[in-house]
Amino acid sequence: MKRAIKAQKIVVKVGTSSLVLPDGKMNVASIEKLSKVLCDLKQVGKQVVLVSSGAIGVGMGKLKLKQRPKSIAEQQAVAAVGQGELIGFYEREFAKYGSSVAQLLLTRDVLSYPQSKHNVYNAFAELLKLNVIPVVNENDTVSVDELDHKTKFGDNDQLSAIVAKIVDADLLIMLSDIDGFYDDNPNKNPNAKLISKITHINHDVLELAGGKGSKFGTGGMLTKLKAAKKILANHQQMVLANGENPQIIQEIINGQEVGTWFTNENKRKVVDL
Ligand code: ADP
Repeated sequence: MKRAIKAQKIVVKVGTSSLVLPDGKMNVASIEKLSKVLCDLKQVGKQVVLVSSGAIGVGMGKLKLKQRPKSIAEQQAVAAVGQGELIGFYEREFAKYGSSVAQLLLTRDVLSYPQSKHNVYNAFAELLKLNVIPVVNENDTVSVDELDHKTKFGDNDQLSAIVAKIVDADLLIMLSDIDGFYDDNPNKNPNAKLISKITHINHDVLELAGGKGSKFGTGGMLTKLKAAKKILANHQQMVLANGENPQIIQEIINGQEVGTWFTNENKRKVVDL
């Protein structure tokens, strides 16, 4: 059965696992396809925002590092190298289809101050008016959590849900290295089953999320469920799907039954995590 998906304003989040190959190199083919699909959406009048992880992963590849650096300073330096490389690549790819991108690097504190929050909302609105695709990431190079100064969003899954709220998106498409949310970690349990639709996130659902994900990704399923919870609380929709072939974005928008669809159909009141 077709899903009732509303998708005029869409936030697409791609995880590191979709952007960086297991050997640490940038997944050029995947980023090329993703750029084409997003530009096609713009062509048919959709508004698109991309939340892209991958700065540290791409930086590691560029600097030929085998292990994720441990110290914060090293991670920030590697992120700075990777972010430049990544946005440069998006810029060239989107330009092939006549689209422009804008880089937005956010830290959580901007949302704690009314004036800076207002500016962020306005900047997004203005970019969408200009028909530019905002490419958003956490500003990994400067964001840290100190006792009295918290600037980290934590992970890009939360960031993408926050961005979906800022731009008042209908739909958040979260692309990962897995076909959706399963009733157990499918990389450990071959009998795990894909859950097609989730209407609320309770403790039983959170229990199924397992621990951390891949070598490069930082979130795992728990952070995706927390993001879904924010989305449901705002009466928006989210689809978690496999980003291996970005053409899946088109299938999701067409209402095809791919990935896991998070939808608060009953407009049930959701308690925050
Ligand atoms: P990304 O880098 O795309 O954000 P992550 O690597 O952080 O993704 O998280 C995806 C991983 O979460 C999957 O590859 C899988 O190993 C793991 N995982 C744990 N529990 C589940 C589950 N219940 N359903 C699907 N994936 C799960």
